[in-house]
Amino acid sequence: MTAEYGKLTWEQVRDADKDRVVILNVSATEDHGPHMPLDTDTVLGMAVANGVAEAAPDEVFVMPAIPYGFNEHHKDFPGVIWIQPETLINFVCDVTESLAHHGFRRILLLNSHGSNHPILDLAARKTVIRTGIICVSASYWNLCSDRIQGLRKSEVGGIAHAGEFEAAMYKHLHPDLVDLDKAESQNLHDPDTKFFNLDLAAGGGKAMLMRWWSSVSPDGTMGDPTVADAETGKAFLEAAIEETTALVREIRALPILPRRDHH
Ligand SMILES: [Zn+2]
Repeated sequence: MTAEYGKLTWEQVRDADKDRVVILNVSATEDHGPHMPLDTDTVLGMAVANGVAEAAPDEVFVMPAIPYGFNEHHKDFPGVIWIQPETLINFVCDVTESLAHHGFRRILLLNSHGSNHPILDLAARKTVIRTGIICVSASYWNLCSDRIQGLRKSEVGGIAHAGEFEAAMYKHLHPDLVDLDKAESQNLHDPDTKFFNLDLAAGGGKAMLMRWWSSVSPDGTMGDPTVADAETGKAFLEAAIEETTALVREIRALPILPRRDHH
C-alpha cells in the first residue's frame, strides 16, 4: 500500500493499518530573500516527509501539505499569503478530526515554518482533547538541531530564515531555483543578548519578540545564505529525515492511554 495519502482509495483507507503515523506538513508561502522562492517551506517540509516515507514506507502516510501558515508579520513583502492563527488552528484540527473519524490513531504535525510552531502545538493539544488519539507536533529543525550544529558553516544567527540551512537544502533539491548571486548575509543576531535568539539550531530564545519582518530585515533574509552549498544541504536533509523517522518510530510505540474521570 502506498504511503501517499492522496493516492489511496477509500477502500484502502478503510483497510489501512491505523497505527501508521499520518504526517501532515504545515508550511507557508512567503518571501525567502531575493535568492529563493516563496514555496521554500513547503518544498523542504515535504522533502522531509517524503524522505521519511522512503525510509519507512510501511510506517507512515504522508498527507498533501497545507502550504499556508501564520505569517502576517511578513506581509510587507510581495507574495505572502497569511492565515489568521485561529483559522489555522481550526483548519488543522478539522483535518486531524477527519483522520480520527476514519480510525487513524497517530498523527505528526510536521512544521516547516517558524511561526507555525505555537499554532501546531495548540492544534495537537486540541486534537488530543477532542479525539483522544495521539497527535504530536514538531518543527523539523528542532529534531536535528544538534546535527545541524555539527554540519553548519555559519555563525550563530546564520540559520534563521532563508539562511544557510534552508538555502543549502533547497540548492541540493533544485539547484536552478536558488540564486546565491543575489544573496546577502543578514546575520541579525545580537551577540550580547541573554534572552533573544532566532537561530533555529543554536539555542533558541528564552524570550520571544516577533517584530514586523520588514523592520528587521532589509531583503527578507535572516541568516547567512552566502555560505550555503548543496553538499551540506544534502547532509542537513538526511539528518532531518533520519531524526524525523526516529520520532515516527517513537510515536508508533507510544501507548494509547485511557482517561480516568475522577468526578
Ligand atoms: Zn522558511
